[in-house]
Parts: sequence; C-alpha cells; structure tokens
Amino acid sequence: MISFRQVKVVSFSLQYLDVYWEIENTNEDLQEYDFYVERSESELGAWTLVAGPLVDRFYVRDNDVPLMNANRELFYRVRAINRISGDELPSKVFSRNGPLPLDALEIVRNEEIVLREHAGTKAWLFPIRTFGQRCPQCWDRALMKCTDDACPTCWGTGFSNGYHYPIECWVQLDSATKVEQVTQNVQLQSNYVTMRLGPVPNVAPMDLVIDHLNRRWRVVSVANTTRFGISVRQQPSLVRVTKGSVEDAIPLKVDTANVQLRPSREYINPQVPGAASSIPDISTLLGAYGVR
Ligand SMILES: [Zn+2]
Repeated sequence: MISFRQVKVVSFSLQYLDVYWEIENTNEDLQEYDFYVERSESELGAWTLVAGPLVDRFYVRDNDVPLMNANRELFYRVRAINRISGDELPSKVFSRNGPLPLDALEIVRNEEIVLREHAGTKAWLFPIRTFGQRCPQCWDRALMKCTDDACPTCWGTGFSNGYHYPIECWVQLDSATKVEQVTQNVQLQSNYVTMRLGPVPNVAPMDLVIDHLNRRWRVVSVANTTRFGISVRQQPSLVRVTKGSVEDAIPLKVDTANVQLRPSREYINPQVPGAASSIPDISTLLGAYGVR
C-alpha cells in the first residue's frame, strides 16, 4: 500500500485553493490508484467531493471554494483507492495553515494532558454549516432567508442538517455566573463563559457546544494563541443558549451508560491504589461534622 508524504494547501487568491499531495517512493504501480480530493469546514466531516477519480495527478485547483467568511477554515483530505484490490488510504486532514512546529506541538501535548487528566471535562463541538445545501423545508429563495427559527431540518441555520458531525473534545470551562436579567418586558438568563482547549477541533463563532452537564452554548468569539499564525490554544467565549430553544432539540448520540465525562484519575487516591470506591462524597464529609 502506498503512503502519503506531503499534503498542503496554498493560495493567494479568493477564487481558488491549490491542493498538493505527494506519495512516498514506492515499487507499486501508481496508475492503479485513483485519488479523490475532499473538502469540509470541519476536521471530521461531513466531506464533499471536490475532484476525482484522478489518475497520476498530484495537484488540484479547487476553484469552487467559499472563501468570503473570515472566521471559517477549510479542511482537505485526499483518499487513494487501489482500483484492483479496493484498498483505501486516506491522507491526514490538512488545511492551508500547515503543520505546527515541534515546540508548539510539545505545548499542545502538555496542555492536552492537563485537560484530559486533570482540569478538563468532556464536551461536544457542533461546527455550524456556513455553505452547502439550503434548507429544503424553511429556506425562502425570494427572501433569501430562513423562515422558521425552530426548523427541525436546519435548526435555524438555513442549511440542511445545520451542523457538521459533532466532535468529542476535552475542554476547560469557566464556571457560569447564575444571572437573572430583569427588564420591563422580558426576563433573561444570559450566561457568558470562557472555554479553553487545544487547537483541535477548530472552533469558530456561531458553532454550538454541548458540555458534560448538557448545557448548550453558542460560540461568540474565539481568541487564539498562535505560532507562525497557526493556532496552539483556543479560548472561545460562549453564551448560554436559552433553555427551550431549537438547539435543545438537537440530538447528541452518546453512550450515557459508559461515557467518561471527567478525568477518572481525579477520583482515585494515588496513595491508596484501587481505593476509588471508598472515596467519600460531599455528604459523607459534611456528615462527619453533624450536617445531615
Ligand atoms: Zn430549515
């Protein structure tokens, strides 16, 4: 089976992106391979076919790219399929940002340990769709707008399915202040919090985040720490989605019986191996002081 050596995206135009890939030197007959180039605005898809099958070609100019959104990043992957054996090899996912340098990778690795083992909780990111098929149910072609805020086909985004596949990630969420905003006409519970996570998955404004307590958040802005302009750490600001909104109806398919929501090692006394079940909870602790 062949393997990919280098994959990259380069362009200095708003009209197109040039996608390049290379194959490690091989004794196999490359003419037997079909290459397919796919694009998505989320690292994990859903993927759209850009070009293919391509034979003995290692470059594509993607000239149908939606590049007018400053907050969106486009991801590519190339799939090589052997026409005879049917073997399939996907390249890694790449964007025009390119790879992080080694020192930044080490920062990302260390911070990922902090998130996964100590400070983080599990969350799911739903990257919002900003282009593609318009909602067949509520999109008005004359008005050029979504006519149903509570549409269950696009979840109010105007695009069919509304969001890309949810991405599971470990994040650190600041605690939300409990707020009642009382005005003459309405009473609002608008919570703003800050979240921290590594560079993957890529978070953009308007994305939806569901945290481990099923609180649903809308991304308002994303601050980044970067190296060579490539994100090393992301710090999105989030606002709580009002309970009962259409976003609450978006299904999150999780194995609730077995999902790990918090770093399990934080519940184990390192001095007493295997003593996890004997760790007291808060009521046992307070009970010792006579609080019932
Ligand atoms: Zn709709």
